[in-house]
Amino acid sequence: MSDPQARLDELITKAKERDLRITPQRLAILKVLAASEGHPSAERIFDQIKTEFPTTSLATVYKTIAMLKEMNQVLELDFGSGANRYDGNRPSPHAHLICLECGDIVDADLDVLDTLPQQIANRTGYQLVSYRFDIYGICSRCRSQRG
Ligand code: ZN
Ligand code: MN
Repeated sequence: MSDPQARLDELITKAKERDLRITPQRLAILKVLAASEGHPSAERIFDQIKTEFPTTSLATVYKTIAMLKEMNQVLELDFGSGANRYDGNRPSPHAHLICLECGDIVDADLDVLDTLPQQIANRTGYQLVSYRFDIYGICSRCRSQRG
């Protein structure tokens, strides 16, 4: 995981390169995405910023995400409409662990997983475009709550 502050600065620089106006609302959304704690949904991002920015709508969150997607600056984990989750901290494909009880998503963070897709592509003659690698389970927090 990149340092959230450094990642935020990077996102701001990229947005400025595109002449995109950074409104205070947009900055708040970028801040949440730069950390991407637990890989939030759009709804969750909206929940986190709506107290500070009551005039912001869920549509604004989606628009900002769409802008970042277009710039390849956010990784979208597609779980069907409304349930998609986002990683703005690490925008290129990587493996994730998904808790089936609380829905938390964390990076698998194992170097071998990052080189595996390219190795498989090389062996099969594929040109690697993208990949998705999700590991499902019960996180340690949920396991300890089960008692
Ligand atoms: Zn859990
Ligand atoms: Mn991730």
